[in-house]
Amino acid sequence: MTGSTPDLAEMARALRRLRGALSTALAGGEDPSASPQVRADLSLLRGASDAAWAGADKIAAFAAAMEDPASLPGVNRKVVIARGQRLLLALAMALDDAAGAGDRDDDEPRAEPAPKPAPITPFDAGLLELDGVGPKTASRLASRGLASPVDLLYWLPRRYDDRRRITPIRELVPGARAVTRGSVERVREFGPRWRRMLEVVLRDGDDAISANWFSNRRPRSDRFEVGAEVVVAGLVSRYKGRLQIAHPIVVTGEGNDRVGRIVPVYAEVPGVAGRVVEKAVGCAARRAAQLVGDPVPRDLLARRGLEPLDRSLTLVHLPPDDVGAELLAAWLEGSSPAQRRLVYDEFFYIQLALGLRRRQEAAVRAVPILAPADLADDAGRLLGFAPTGAQRRAVAEIAADLARGAPMRRLLQGDVGSGKTMVALAAALAAARGGCQAALMAPTEILAEQHMRNLEPVLRRLRLRAVLHIGEARSSSRRKSLAAIEAGTADLAIGTHALIQESVRFARLGLAIVDEQHRFGVSQRLGLVGKGRDGTSPHLLVMTATPIPRTLALTVHGDLDFSILDELPPGRTPIATSLWAHDERDLVLDRARDAVGRGEQVYVVCPVIEESEKLDVRAAEEAHAELSARFGAARTGLLHGRLPPEQRDAAMGGFVRGEIAVLVTTTVVEVGVDVPNATMMIIEDAQRFGLAQLHQLRGRVGRGERPSECHLIADTTSPEAAARLEAIVGTLDGFAIAEADLRLRGPGELYGRRQSGLPGFRFGDLRRDGELLLWAREDALGLLAADPSLERDGHLPLREELRRRIEAGDGPVGEEAG
Ligand code: ADP
Ligand code: MG
Repeated sequence: MTGSTPDLAEMARALRRLRGALSTALAGGEDPSASPQVRADLSLLRGASDAAWAGADKIAAFAAAMEDPASLPGVNRKVVIARGQRLLLALAMALDDAAGAGDRDDDEPRAEPAPKPAPITPFDAGLLELDGVGPKTASRLASRGLASPVDLLYWLPRRYDDRRRITPIRELVPGARAVTRGSVERVREFGPRWRRMLEVVLRDGDDAISANWFSNRRPRSDRFEVGAEVVVAGLVSRYKGRLQIAHPIVVTGEGNDRVGRIVPVYAEVPGVAGRVVEKAVGCAARRAAQLVGDPVPRDLLARRGLEPLDRSLTLVHLPPDDVGAELLAAWLEGSSPAQRRLVYDEFFYIQLALGLRRRQEAAVRAVPILAPADLADDAGRLLGFAPTGAQRRAVAEIAADLARGAPMRRLLQGDVGSGKTMVALAAALAAARGGCQAALMAPTEILAEQHMRNLEPVLRRLRLRAVLHIGEARSSSRRKSLAAIEAGTADLAIGTHALIQESVRFARLGLAIVDEQHRFGVSQRLGLVGKGRDGTSPHLLVMTATPIPRTLALTVHGDLDFSILDELPPGRTPIATSLWAHDERDLVLDRARDAVGRGEQVYVVCPVIEESEKLDVRAAEEAHAELSARFGAARTGLLHGRLPPEQRDAAMGGFVRGEIAVLVTTTVVEVGVDVPNATMMIIEDAQRFGLAQLHQLRGRVGRGERPSECHLIADTTSPEAAARLEAIVGTLDGFAIAEADLRLRGPGELYGRRQSGLPGFRFGDLRRDGELLLWAREDALGLLAADPSLERDGHLPLREELRRRIEAGDGPVGEEAG
């Protein structure tokens, strides 16, 4: 701040008046903009503060909004006014600074005075009412997103330290956190001036420990008097053969609350000492009841046995001291009743937001499609089998959706080989017979080509026309398929993401189906849905074979309905899975020779190498050369994504017809490929694959009635790899495997980078809180069903809280992974 803003005193007066006026407005009083004085004050601040304060433009924007606050909807207006108040307060501080006013913080001396005054981050005046918080600390907290006491309440400790008991030095164990006590024996400072180190040796009888501070600019050796009793807390380690605690918390006087209880430990806020943070948060926590209401309806809380919000927000910062071992364990892993309440809330508001979004979408119209009651049998007959019970159910659910004038948004989830293609065919048939076009989008050309091979002849028998539209097809056939799609003579367009290019214009798209939808982004899915006509939206069916655990699916696809194929077609024999070491590879290949001898077929999948397709291809080529020598060149095929389309067709086609017995390939066959005569899957370097991926690959076999085998050749020296592979060997249940994957790797990595859009949570952990998520979803949807716009029955606070969370960025985090 430059110290010479001309009309400082006048600005300060204007500020005081304005803040008063806004407080009245917030409390429900009259409209502040009606007062000429307010207008005059605002314009003064707008003009005069330009040069003096970085937030001037924000004040200007605020003043502009205040010109006509009546145009804002009620709730928004409050938000704007509250924001204005914060701005004005920050401006007031800037002026104080300019006038040279001091700060009443008592930061630890270690925090060096900042060389330049830091820019002021606006904050809520309530922060200043917390113990030990002055404008500077408030501004620093605010710059970390902690701009109000409520923000502090929701800022949970990173962990808890049980500092209730003082452990004698003799009993300390390196690697554990502890509180201990001794008398100061020696104090030593050493090292260069800018990086002083401090060592304090504490002694208790025969035992000693040193407390060490490294790289400190101003070590406070004067705090330690030889002979004085000192309590220190921190992580015990061994340093140069002696017990030490590095950078411990030190307690000298009496009555300190940093030991003797279970202490919450917070993330660091630059420029604010740890104990100042603890004090401020603790103070806010004691006032939780004044700071927050509880918008979640009582009856829901009672039904779920959840704690009141204010009590929970108090307890997470001030955990009770008298917890037993079991409850302590719950605290430490984040599942104490207080913590559960906050997790529930997080999920609950996300589900509310998703539910509201769905309801908005429901205003969009779709062309209703009526389907005959025997639709499932019809589709089954065309493919040559009777539908499973699960397939029937799914088709019925889809048929009911299609018949409505609102667009279907449905996820069909079914394990590999559960028969999703038949369900897709049934839906497409209904659309085509109802006079609409359908589109089926697959993630790979190999899979699109397979769908074309399977479905085109079926449709042709019904005098319906399917066209293939993929990126690499020769341009003449591309032009043909485009023309047929545009003229409406194509009833079903099968293709890859090429289908969503702008050049593709459907005459009357009524149904979009996305196969293996986890391979697509949300925008691609929406791209297809955007191709409806006359303001209608096509119905959407997305199918996934990657088993998403239900808990995850609910957050990722909370705005989709679900159909589940939980039953495999009859006559399948379980796939026998075995794990082999590299030097046993020959034994596996012997078994492959036996299978080929019986007229069956084998996949050999080569390892994923460092995310580089080029290297994957090289590995496949080498394996192909080797196996061709063994099985004969004519009977050994090579398939990977870099082959030109004709060679790919030749390899895949040859395998489908049974001419090729051994198909050496990369992960291009991971999804969708269906050759029932193939009974053996060999996966090289299996430790390099993810669990979900291995399960998908294994799903390429076991599709016929003959027994199938899956052989994993792997290096299992790392315990994680061994655990993963054992999970695969131990079960064929895709859902169990997905849950195991979630446990072993965490949700962020479940589907690798492709699915990096999975939501992250502030409080919730899908591995731990699956049940809470289900409750939250059920409760949120139930509430919306009874009160769709949250306006009745005292639900308005819920709406406000939802808005607060969305503004604070805790709304539905990210989009669905798509
Ligand atoms: P998904 O896409 O779910 O992995 P597919 O649709 O490719 O599975 O079906 C796997 C195999 O099972 C295919 O060969 C298919 O013809 C066959 N199939 C599907 N449904 C049935 C059924 N009801 N009865 C017998 N075979 C079926
Ligand atoms: Mg499939």
